[in-house]
Amino acid sequence: MRTLVITIFILMALFGFFLKYLTYSRRNDAIPENVKDVYDEETYGKNQAYKMDKLKFSIIASSIGTVISLCFLLFNFHHVLYEYIARSSNNIYLTSMFVLFIPFLINSVVRRSMSIYDTFVIEKRYEFNKTTPLTFILDTLKSFIIAVVVGGGLLSLFLVLYDQIGNWMFIAFFFIMILFQLFVAFISPLLIRIFYKLTPLEDGELKNGVMALAERTGFRIKGIYSVNASKRSTKLNAFASGFGKSKTIGLFDTLIEKLTVDEIIAVLAHEIGHAKKHHILKSTPFNLLMTGFVLAAAYFIIALPEASQAFGFAGVNLAFGIYVMAILISPLMALFGIPANILSRKHEYEADAYAKECSGKEATASALKKLYQENLGNLTPHPVVVMLEYSHPPLSQRIAALE
Ligand SMILES: [Zn+2]
Repeated sequence: MRTLVITIFILMALFGFFLKYLTYSRRNDAIPENVKDVYDEETYGKNQAYKMDKLKFSIIASSIGTVISLCFLLFNFHHVLYEYIARSSNNIYLTSMFVLFIPFLINSVVRRSMSIYDTFVIEKRYEFNKTTPLTFILDTLKSFIIAVVVGGGLLSLFLVLYDQIGNWMFIAFFFIMILFQLFVAFISPLLIRIFYKLTPLEDGELKNGVMALAERTGFRIKGIYSVNASKRSTKLNAFASGFGKSKTIGLFDTLIEKLTVDEIIAVLAHEIGHAKKHHILKSTPFNLLMTGFVLAAAYFIIALPEASQAFGFAGVNLAFGIYVMAILISPLMALFGIPANILSRKHEYEADAYAKECSGKEATASALKKLYQENLGNLTPHPVVVMLEYSHPPLSQRIAALE
Protein backbone atom coordinates (compact mmCIF):
# COMPACT_ATOMS: atom_id res chain seq x y z
CA MET A 1 0.00 0.00 0.00
CA ARG A 2 2.80 2.40 0.94
CA THR A 3 4.63 1.81 -2.36
CA LEU A 4 1.40 2.18 -4.30
CA VAL A 5 0.47 5.50 -2.68
CA ILE A 6 3.96 6.97 -3.07
CA THR A 7 4.26 5.75 -6.66
CA ILE A 8 0.93 7.27 -7.66
CA PHE A 9 1.88 10.50 -5.92
CA ILE A 10 5.18 10.72 -7.82
CA LEU A 11 3.67 9.70 -11.18
CA MET A 12 0.93 12.33 -10.90
CA ALA A 13 3.51 14.98 -10.06
CA LEU A 14 5.62 13.96 -13.07
CA PHE A 15 2.52 14.01 -15.24
CA GLY A 16 1.86 17.59 -14.10
CA PHE A 17 5.39 18.56 -15.12
CA PHE A 18 4.95 16.81 -18.45
CA LEU A 19 1.86 18.92 -19.21
CA LYS A 20 3.81 22.06 -18.37
CA TYR A 21 6.54 20.88 -20.73
CA LEU A 22 3.97 20.39 -23.52
CA THR A 23 2.82 24.00 -23.08
CA TYR A 24 6.44 25.13 -23.20
CA SER A 25 7.11 23.12 -26.37
CA ARG A 26 4.45 25.10 -28.27
CA ARG A 27 5.76 28.54 -27.32
CA ASN A 28 7.17 29.36 -30.78
CA ASP A 29 4.33 27.91 -32.86
CA ALA A 30 2.84 30.03 -35.63
CA ILE A 31 -0.22 32.00 -34.47
CA PRO A 32 -3.45 30.79 -36.15
CA GLU A 33 -4.50 33.08 -39.01
CA ASN A 34 -7.84 34.19 -37.51
CA VAL A 35 -6.28 35.49 -34.28
CA LYS A 36 -3.18 37.12 -35.76
CA ASP A 37 -4.58 40.58 -34.99
CA VAL A 38 -4.85 39.98 -31.24
CA TYR A 39 -1.35 41.20 -30.50
CA ASP A 40 1.15 43.31 -32.35
CA GLU A 41 4.62 41.84 -32.52
CA GLU A 42 6.00 43.71 -29.54
CA THR A 43 3.07 42.80 -27.29
CA TYR A 44 3.28 39.18 -28.42
CA GLY A 45 6.93 39.11 -27.43
CA LYS A 46 6.02 40.46 -24.01
CA ASN A 47 3.17 37.95 -23.77
CA GLN A 48 5.48 35.01 -24.51
CA ALA A 49 8.16 36.23 -22.12
CA TYR A 50 5.55 36.62 -19.38
CA LYS A 51 4.12 33.17 -19.93
CA MET A 52 7.53 31.53 -19.96
CA ASP A 53 8.51 33.33 -16.75
CA LYS A 54 5.27 32.20 -15.14
CA LEU A 55 5.76 28.66 -16.39
CA LYS A 56 9.34 28.42 -15.13
CA PHE A 57 8.26 29.79 -11.81
CA SER A 58 5.31 27.41 -11.53
CA ILE A 59 7.65 24.48 -12.25
CA ILE A 60 9.93 25.57 -9.41
CA ALA A 61 6.97 26.24 -7.11
CA SER A 62 5.30 22.90 -7.74
CA SER A 63 8.63 21.05 -7.42
CA ILE A 64 9.09 22.51 -3.95
CA GLY A 65 5.48 21.71 -3.01
CA THR A 66 5.81 18.18 -4.34
CA VAL A 67 9.06 17.52 -2.49
CA ILE A 68 7.57 18.76 0.79
CA SER A 69 4.45 16.60 0.45
CA LEU A 70 6.58 13.64 -0.58
CA CYS A 71 8.73 14.07 2.52
CA PHE A 72 5.59 14.11 4.66
CA LEU A 73 4.70 10.69 3.22
CA LEU A 74 8.22 9.24 3.32
CA PHE A 75 8.82 10.25 6.92
CA ASN A 76 5.32 9.41 8.21
CA PHE A 77 4.90 13.04 9.17
CA HIS A 78 1.13 12.71 9.70
CA HIS A 79 1.67 9.97 12.22
CA VAL A 80 4.37 12.00 14.00
CA LEU A 81 1.81 14.79 14.33
CA TYR A 82 -0.78 12.34 15.58
CA GLU A 83 1.58 10.98 18.26
CA TYR A 84 2.30 14.51 19.36
CA ILE A 85 -1.30 15.63 19.70
CA ALA A 86 -2.50 12.29 21.11
CA ARG A 87 -0.33 12.89 24.18
CA SER A 88 -2.45 15.87 25.19
CA SER A 89 -5.87 14.95 23.79
CA ASN A 90 -7.81 11.90 22.75
CA ASN A 91 -10.62 13.89 21.17
CA ILE A 92 -11.02 12.33 17.74
CA TYR A 93 -12.07 15.60 16.08
CA LEU A 94 -9.19 17.57 17.48
CA THR A 95 -6.59 14.94 16.57
CA SER A 96 -8.05 14.50 13.06
CA MET A 97 -8.00 18.24 12.45
CA PHE A 98 -4.45 18.43 13.68
CA VAL A 99 -3.20 15.60 11.45
CA LEU A 100 -4.58 17.27 8.32
CA PHE A 101 -4.32 20.90 9.39
CA ILE A 102 -0.58 21.15 10.10
CA PRO A 103 0.52 19.79 6.68
CA PHE A 104 -2.11 22.05 5.09
CA LEU A 105 -0.72 25.00 7.05
CA ILE A 106 2.86 24.26 6.02
CA ASN A 107 1.82 23.86 2.37
CA SER A 108 -0.19 27.08 2.49
CA VAL A 109 2.69 29.05 3.96
CA VAL A 110 5.07 27.73 1.30
CA ARG A 111 2.59 28.36 -1.50
CA ARG A 112 1.75 31.86 -0.36
CA SER A 113 5.41 32.79 0.06
CA MET A 114 5.92 31.72 -3.53
CA SER A 115 2.95 33.70 -4.70
CA ILE A 116 4.56 36.77 -3.11
CA TYR A 117 7.29 36.35 -5.70
CA ASP A 118 4.77 35.63 -8.42
CA THR A 119 2.63 38.67 -7.62
CA PHE A 120 5.23 41.25 -6.65
CA VAL A 121 8.05 40.27 -8.98
CA ILE A 122 6.71 38.49 -12.09
CA GLU A 123 3.28 40.12 -12.38
CA LYS A 124 4.81 43.47 -11.52
CA ARG A 125 7.51 43.11 -14.15
CA TYR A 126 4.77 42.78 -16.77
CA GLU A 127 2.69 45.55 -15.18
CA PHE A 128 -0.19 43.24 -14.27
CA ASN A 129 0.00 43.58 -10.57
CA LYS A 130 -1.95 46.27 -8.77
CA THR A 131 -2.11 44.55 -5.39
CA THR A 132 -0.61 46.31 -2.41
CA PRO A 133 1.07 44.23 0.32
CA LEU A 134 -1.84 45.02 2.64
CA THR A 135 -4.48 43.75 0.19
CA PHE A 136 -2.31 40.70 -0.42
CA ILE A 137 -2.06 39.90 3.29
CA LEU A 138 -5.79 40.45 3.84
CA ASP A 139 -6.65 38.25 0.84
CA THR A 140 -4.36 35.54 2.15
CA LEU A 141 -5.96 35.62 5.60
CA LYS A 142 -9.49 35.65 4.21
CA SER A 143 -8.91 32.68 1.88
CA PHE A 144 -7.15 30.81 4.65
CA ILE A 145 -10.01 31.33 7.10
CA ILE A 146 -12.59 30.29 4.48
CA ALA A 147 -10.59 27.13 3.66
CA VAL A 148 -10.20 26.21 7.34
CA VAL A 149 -13.85 26.87 8.22
CA VAL A 150 -15.24 25.04 5.18
CA GLY A 151 -12.68 22.19 5.20
CA GLY A 152 -12.77 21.80 8.99
CA GLY A 153 -16.56 21.99 9.03
CA LEU A 154 -17.00 19.31 6.36
CA LEU A 155 -14.38 17.07 7.99
CA SER A 156 -16.04 17.33 11.43
CA LEU A 157 -19.44 16.65 9.91
CA PHE A 158 -17.99 13.62 8.13
CA LEU A 159 -16.51 12.26 11.35
CA VAL A 160 -19.61 12.96 13.45
CA LEU A 161 -21.81 11.16 10.93
CA TYR A 162 -19.40 8.26 10.68
CA ASP A 163 -19.48 7.96 14.43
CA GLN A 164 -23.29 8.09 14.55
CA ILE A 165 -24.51 6.12 11.56
CA GLY A 166 -21.44 4.24 10.31
CA ASN A 167 -21.45 3.36 6.63
CA TRP A 168 -24.83 5.03 6.01
CA MET A 169 -22.80 8.17 6.33
CA PHE A 170 -21.52 7.76 2.77
CA ILE A 171 -25.05 8.01 1.45
CA ALA A 172 -25.99 10.83 3.82
CA PHE A 173 -22.88 12.72 2.81
CA PHE A 174 -23.85 12.48 -0.84
CA PHE A 175 -26.93 14.58 -0.08
CA ILE A 176 -24.96 16.88 2.17
CA MET A 177 -22.57 17.60 -0.70
CA ILE A 178 -25.52 18.45 -2.96
CA LEU A 179 -26.90 20.83 -0.33
CA PHE A 180 -23.44 22.26 0.13
CA GLN A 181 -23.11 23.02 -3.59
CA LEU A 182 -26.53 24.69 -3.60
CA PHE A 183 -25.51 26.67 -0.54
CA VAL A 184 -22.30 27.85 -2.23
CA ALA A 185 -24.29 28.98 -5.28
CA PHE A 186 -26.67 30.75 -2.92
CA ILE A 187 -24.03 32.68 -1.01
CA SER A 188 -21.59 33.29 -3.87
CA PRO A 189 -22.70 36.93 -4.27
CA LEU A 190 -21.78 37.38 -0.61
CA LEU A 191 -18.46 35.54 -1.01
CA ILE A 192 -17.50 37.93 -3.80
CA ARG A 193 -18.07 40.84 -1.45
CA ILE A 194 -15.52 39.42 0.99
CA PHE A 195 -12.83 40.10 -1.60
CA TYR A 196 -14.17 42.91 -3.75
CA LYS A 197 -16.06 46.12 -3.35
CA LEU A 198 -19.19 46.25 -5.49
CA THR A 199 -20.52 49.66 -6.47
CA PRO A 200 -23.83 50.00 -8.33
CA LEU A 201 -23.19 50.92 -11.94
CA GLU A 202 -23.74 54.62 -12.69
CA ASP A 203 -26.56 55.68 -15.00
CA GLY A 204 -25.44 56.07 -18.58
CA GLU A 205 -24.89 54.36 -21.88
CA LEU A 206 -23.50 51.16 -20.38
CA LYS A 207 -26.23 50.72 -17.79
CA ASN A 208 -28.90 51.41 -20.42
CA GLY A 209 -27.26 48.87 -22.69
CA VAL A 210 -27.26 46.24 -19.95
CA MET A 211 -30.89 46.95 -19.09
CA ALA A 212 -31.86 46.72 -22.76
CA LEU A 213 -30.03 43.40 -23.05
CA ALA A 214 -31.80 42.08 -19.95
CA GLU A 215 -35.12 43.21 -21.40
CA ARG A 216 -34.41 41.57 -24.77
CA THR A 217 -33.33 38.27 -23.24
CA GLY A 218 -35.93 38.19 -20.46
CA PHE A 219 -33.13 37.97 -17.93
CA ARG A 220 -33.94 39.21 -14.46
CA ILE A 221 -31.30 41.34 -12.83
CA LYS A 222 -31.06 41.99 -9.13
CA GLY A 223 -28.31 44.54 -9.45
CA ILE A 224 -25.54 45.66 -11.79
CA TYR A 225 -22.25 46.40 -10.13
CA SER A 226 -18.83 47.60 -10.98
CA VAL A 227 -16.26 45.40 -9.21
CA ASN A 228 -13.07 47.07 -8.04
CA ALA A 229 -10.76 44.43 -9.51
CA SER A 230 -8.26 47.08 -10.61
CA LYS A 231 -7.12 47.20 -7.00
CA ARG A 232 -5.57 43.77 -7.56
CA SER A 233 -4.80 43.15 -11.17
CA THR A 234 -5.30 44.53 -14.68
CA LYS A 235 -6.99 41.32 -15.84
CA LEU A 236 -10.58 41.45 -17.10
CA ASN A 237 -13.69 39.53 -16.12
CA ALA A 238 -17.45 39.63 -15.72
CA PHE A 239 -19.94 37.39 -13.97
CA ALA A 240 -23.64 36.82 -13.44
CA SER A 241 -24.02 35.07 -10.13
CA GLY A 242 -26.71 34.23 -7.65
CA PHE A 243 -29.29 31.65 -6.97
CA GLY A 244 -32.71 31.34 -8.57
CA LYS A 245 -34.27 33.51 -11.22
CA SER A 246 -32.66 36.88 -10.69
CA LYS A 247 -28.91 37.36 -10.79
CA THR A 248 -26.35 39.83 -9.67
CA ILE A 249 -24.21 41.14 -12.51
CA GLY A 250 -20.65 42.11 -11.79
CA LEU A 251 -18.40 43.87 -14.30
CA PHE A 252 -14.73 44.27 -13.44
CA ASP A 253 -13.83 47.96 -13.58
CA THR A 254 -10.88 46.90 -15.75
CA LEU A 255 -13.35 45.47 -18.26
CA ILE A 256 -15.41 48.66 -18.26
CA GLU A 257 -12.27 50.64 -18.92
CA LYS A 258 -10.87 48.53 -21.76
CA LEU A 259 -13.92 47.40 -23.75
CA THR A 260 -16.49 49.38 -25.72
CA VAL A 261 -20.11 49.29 -24.55
CA ASP A 262 -21.02 46.88 -27.37
CA GLU A 263 -18.21 44.55 -26.39
CA ILE A 264 -19.17 44.59 -22.71
CA ILE A 265 -22.76 43.79 -23.71
CA ALA A 266 -21.41 40.85 -25.74
CA VAL A 267 -19.44 39.57 -22.74
CA LEU A 268 -22.54 39.87 -20.60
CA ALA A 269 -24.68 38.19 -23.26
CA HIS A 270 -22.21 35.28 -23.09
CA GLU A 271 -22.79 35.03 -19.32
CA ILE A 272 -26.56 35.28 -19.79
CA GLY A 273 -26.21 32.54 -22.43
CA HIS A 274 -24.82 30.22 -19.76
CA ALA A 275 -27.84 30.89 -17.57
CA LYS A 276 -30.37 30.72 -20.42
CA LYS A 277 -29.06 27.38 -21.63
CA HIS A 278 -29.10 26.01 -18.07
CA HIS A 279 -25.44 25.08 -18.16
CA ILE A 280 -25.11 24.70 -14.42
CA LEU A 281 -28.09 22.37 -14.34
CA LYS A 282 -26.75 20.41 -17.32
CA SER A 283 -23.39 19.81 -15.68
CA THR A 284 -25.10 18.70 -12.46
CA PRO A 285 -25.57 14.99 -13.35
CA PHE A 286 -21.87 14.72 -14.11
CA ASN A 287 -20.92 16.49 -10.89
CA LEU A 288 -23.21 14.18 -8.93
CA LEU A 289 -21.56 11.20 -10.58
CA MET A 290 -18.16 12.53 -9.52
CA THR A 291 -19.34 13.12 -5.96
CA GLY A 292 -20.79 9.61 -5.90
CA PHE A 293 -17.53 8.18 -7.18
CA VAL A 294 -15.44 9.98 -4.56
CA LEU A 295 -17.75 8.80 -1.79
CA ALA A 296 -17.66 5.24 -3.09
CA ALA A 297 -13.87 5.41 -3.11
CA ALA A 298 -14.00 6.84 0.41
CA TYR A 299 -16.21 3.94 1.47
CA PHE A 300 -13.63 1.40 0.31
CA ILE A 301 -10.44 3.18 1.22
CA ILE A 302 -10.58 5.47 4.24
CA ALA A 303 -11.54 2.86 6.81
CA LEU A 304 -9.06 0.36 5.41
CA PRO A 305 -6.51 -0.35 8.20
CA GLU A 306 -3.72 -0.81 5.62
CA ALA A 307 -4.17 2.76 4.38
CA SER A 308 -3.23 4.20 7.78
CA GLN A 309 -0.90 1.45 8.92
CA ALA A 310 1.28 1.82 5.82
CA PHE A 311 2.26 5.26 7.10
CA GLY A 312 2.97 4.48 10.74
CA PHE A 313 -0.47 4.52 12.37
CA ALA A 314 -1.33 1.63 14.69
CA GLY A 315 -4.91 1.42 13.40
CA VAL A 316 -7.40 3.25 11.22
CA ASN A 317 -7.09 7.02 11.17
CA LEU A 318 -10.07 8.30 9.21
CA ALA A 319 -8.66 11.77 8.57
CA PHE A 320 -5.42 10.37 7.19
CA GLY A 321 -7.47 7.79 5.28
CA ILE A 322 -9.13 10.67 3.44
CA TYR A 323 -5.71 11.97 2.46
CA VAL A 324 -4.56 8.56 1.19
CA MET A 325 -7.79 8.18 -0.75
CA ALA A 326 -7.27 11.57 -2.42
CA ILE A 327 -3.87 10.41 -3.68
CA LEU A 328 -5.11 6.98 -4.81
CA ILE A 329 -7.98 8.35 -6.86
CA SER A 330 -6.07 11.32 -8.31
CA PRO A 331 -5.34 9.55 -11.66
CA LEU A 332 -9.04 8.76 -12.06
CA MET A 333 -9.98 12.30 -11.14
CA ALA A 334 -7.63 13.53 -13.87
CA LEU A 335 -9.40 11.19 -16.31
CA PHE A 336 -12.80 12.49 -15.18
CA GLY A 337 -11.50 15.94 -16.00
CA ILE A 338 -11.53 15.07 -19.70
CA PRO A 339 -15.32 14.68 -20.15
CA ALA A 340 -15.93 17.48 -17.62
CA ASN A 341 -13.83 19.88 -19.68
CA ILE A 342 -15.33 18.68 -22.97
CA LEU A 343 -18.76 19.51 -21.58
CA SER A 344 -17.55 22.86 -20.29
CA ARG A 345 -16.00 23.77 -23.65
CA LYS A 346 -19.23 22.78 -25.41
CA HIS A 347 -21.09 25.15 -23.09
CA GLU A 348 -18.63 27.93 -23.89
CA TYR A 349 -19.34 27.52 -27.62
CA GLU A 350 -23.07 27.66 -26.88
CA ALA A 351 -22.68 30.79 -24.76
CA ASP A 352 -20.57 32.40 -27.52
CA ALA A 353 -23.28 31.55 -30.05
CA TYR A 354 -25.84 33.13 -27.75
CA ALA A 355 -23.69 36.27 -27.46
CA LYS A 356 -23.43 36.38 -31.25
CA GLU A 357 -27.21 36.14 -31.52
CA CYS A 358 -27.70 39.04 -29.07
CA SER A 359 -24.81 41.33 -29.92
CA GLY A 360 -23.65 40.31 -33.36
CA LYS A 361 -20.56 38.54 -34.59
CA GLU A 362 -18.32 41.62 -34.70
CA ALA A 363 -18.80 42.73 -31.09
CA THR A 364 -18.54 39.16 -29.79
CA ALA A 365 -15.35 38.39 -31.69
CA SER A 366 -13.66 41.67 -30.80
CA ALA A 367 -14.70 41.28 -27.14
CA LEU A 368 -13.18 37.79 -27.03
CA LYS A 369 -10.00 39.02 -28.66
CA LYS A 370 -9.67 41.89 -26.22
CA LEU A 371 -10.19 39.56 -23.25
CA TYR A 372 -7.39 37.31 -24.47
CA GLN A 373 -5.24 40.30 -25.30
CA GLU A 374 -5.55 41.92 -21.89
CA ASN A 375 -5.29 38.63 -20.00
CA LEU A 376 -2.36 37.52 -22.16
CA GLY A 377 -4.15 34.34 -23.15
CA ASN A 378 -2.24 31.54 -24.85
CA LEU A 379 -2.87 31.54 -28.61
CA THR A 380 -0.94 28.32 -29.25
CA PRO A 381 -1.85 25.85 -26.50
CA HIS A 382 -0.92 22.18 -26.87
CA PRO A 383 -3.97 20.08 -27.91
CA VAL A 384 -3.32 17.52 -25.18
CA VAL A 385 -3.26 20.22 -22.51
CA VAL A 386 -6.45 21.68 -23.98
CA MET A 387 -8.14 18.27 -23.87
CA LEU A 388 -7.14 17.63 -20.26
CA GLU A 389 -7.25 21.03 -18.62
CA TYR A 390 -8.99 23.70 -20.68
CA SER A 391 -12.48 24.58 -19.49
CA HIS A 392 -12.58 27.15 -22.35
CA PRO A 393 -11.72 26.39 -25.99
CA PRO A 394 -8.63 28.07 -27.48
CA LEU A 395 -9.35 31.52 -28.91
CA SER A 396 -8.84 30.62 -32.57
CA GLN A 397 -11.42 27.83 -32.27
CA ARG A 398 -13.90 30.16 -30.56
CA ILE A 399 -13.47 32.73 -33.32
CA ALA A 400 -13.75 30.01 -35.98
CA ALA A 401 -16.98 28.79 -34.35
CA LEU A 402 -18.45 32.30 -34.58
CA GLU A 403 -17.86 32.40 -38.33
ZN1 LIG B 1 -18.34 31.23 -20.41
